[in-house]
Amino acid sequence: MFGFTPVCVALSMDSCNLVHMPSSSPLTSHSGLVLHGVPVVAGVQYGPVIRPGKPPDLGGALAVPDLPEDARAPEVERFRAAAAAVAERLRERAAHATGSAAEVLSATASLAQDRGWLGAAEKQINQGAPAVRAADAAIEQFVEMFTKLGGLMAERVTDLRDIRGRVIAELQGLPEPGVPIPEEPSVLCAEDLAPADTAGLDPALVVALATTLGGPTSHTAIIARQLGIPCIVAVGGLDEVPAGTSVLVDGTTGTVTVDPDEAAAREAVADAARAAQAAAGWSGPGATADGHTVGLLANVSDGAAARAARQTPAEGVGLFRTELCFLNTDTEPSVQTQAGIYAEVLEAFAGHKVVIRTLDAGSDKPLKFAGHAEEANPALGVRGIRVATANPGLLEHQLDAIAVAGKRTGNAPWVMAPMIATAEEAAAFADQARARGLTPGVMIEIPAAALLADRVLEHVDFLSIGTNDLAQYTMAADRMAPGLATLTDPWQPAVLSLVARTAAAGAAVGKPVGVCGEAAADPMLACVLTGLGVTSLSAAAAAVRPVGAQLARVTLQQCRDAAQAVLRTAGAAEARAAALAVLG
Ligand code: PEP
Ligand code: MG
Repeated sequence: MFGFTPVCVALSMDSCNLVHMPSSSPLTSHSGLVLHGVPVVAGVQYGPVIRPGKPPDLGGALAVPDLPEDARAPEVERFRAAAAAVAERLRERAAHATGSAAEVLSATASLAQDRGWLGAAEKQINQGAPAVRAADAAIEQFVEMFTKLGGLMAERVTDLRDIRGRVIAELQGLPEPGVPIPEEPSVLCAEDLAPADTAGLDPALVVALATTLGGPTSHTAIIARQLGIPCIVAVGGLDEVPAGTSVLVDGTTGTVTVDPDEAAAREAVADAARAAQAAAGWSGPGATADGHTVGLLANVSDGAAARAARQTPAEGVGLFRTELCFLNTDTEPSVQTQAGIYAEVLEAFAGHKVVIRTLDAGSDKPLKFAGHAEEANPALGVRGIRVATANPGLLEHQLDAIAVAGKRTGNAPWVMAPMIATAEEAAAFADQARARGLTPGVMIEIPAAALLADRVLEHVDFLSIGTNDLAQYTMAADRMAPGLATLTDPWQPAVLSLVARTAAAGAAVGKPVGVCGEAAADPMLACVLTGLGVTSLSAAAAAVRPVGAQLARVTLQQCRDAAQAVLRTAGAAEARAAALAVLG
């Protein structure tokens, strides 16, 4: 039970980082305070804080006495109907969403209908518990179990509690908990956001996101990127800011200014909007001001996301995360089914480069049909290409399907394998891909592969650097751990040194080296990556224009100077400042 649902970890913040900023407005108790977090989506917005509604107060509902025998069967029906209504509403929202948002909403809908917890609750009702008490106890049973298991399972606890709140509110005839619909453009602040909440946001009303928890690659961040609204995670002290307080969110510097001077805040928003407008007018192709070309590509998760990305100046797909198509699939999809899914993406970008990544199953994205064993450290275990060792058929069938899709659409796909650690693994994958007429490459996500990129390149035609995992493995910091977000920051100079080394290996033999991790979505960092010698950048579709516009403002020499300055720094904050000083 409980396939992949995005990660929200319920921890409490025990320290915060409060710095004062000069303000011309009269000081209130919070006025001018600047809170710091990890910036994940650039942009500046100002508005009052809204916070998600609290789950229903169970209070007396838990003390209600047991039901008489004859009331139990109808109560089971009432409970089933409530869970089904919650699932149906989530599915309806999924049908109106696209890409990751649709994925998140349908995963949460499946959780609402999960037989494991429904069965546990029904058992309790049949023993006399009223539905509210049974729902609460059944979820709590799984929360306890998952918390004890720790790691990935513990990260599902927020999802479970989210479902409990929704089903109980339905049973009590109360409005569904979650994000209130604001009356004016507002900034949504929370400890962490339930996946279904972030997926349903209206970017016209919720203009920015800030959370106390969450990491730069959490799904809150991924959805914010898709919506194109500024987002900062791991913001120390955010919990102290009450709803209704005005805040200025700067998703470029990672700061939340509490109760700032209103005129200055509105000016900062207008400045950022002017820059965004310049970006909106940018129509590609990717190049620096002096004409050095950089391929600007989109990361997609399915055909719908690819079609949406085609509406941007993206020149192709740099990363198609195929595992995201099968998160709720119980059995291995047939070659023909897979080919149909891949063909949709190839068709959306007919005549353009499409890089299909083979299944990155395992760790935070377990697939039911991949046969994952219980592991103490799944991020260091059998994930990505390693799954093929125990289950070679999965990779063979997928490559067959990619080849079929390529032939059917007339668009020859590039394929790449995730989690490559050695040149031998790269060689074996390249042989399998070439045997099917596919252009092989591998992802560089493990420091070992970056260090020996020259040897890996003897076997493949291109490399694509996954900075999300490269940061995780270089810094020995779990990319999902909110408390470690400053370590997994892709601006860490140690991570960028490995990027530099990999890009140099590609340049030496004239083979392309791209970046497809979240680092490529940061306009300033995109310039630094270009200066380090990266030949293409692949990011969420919403990031393509801001990245392209920023690159078009600077020269290759500026990018190179920024890259050299960054490599001399000792930490991520220093690296950002060094790049900003060169790039302006
Ligand atoms: C990465 O690790 O940077 C990457 C692009 O892969 P994923 O985020 O899917 O692990
Ligand atoms: Mg990865």
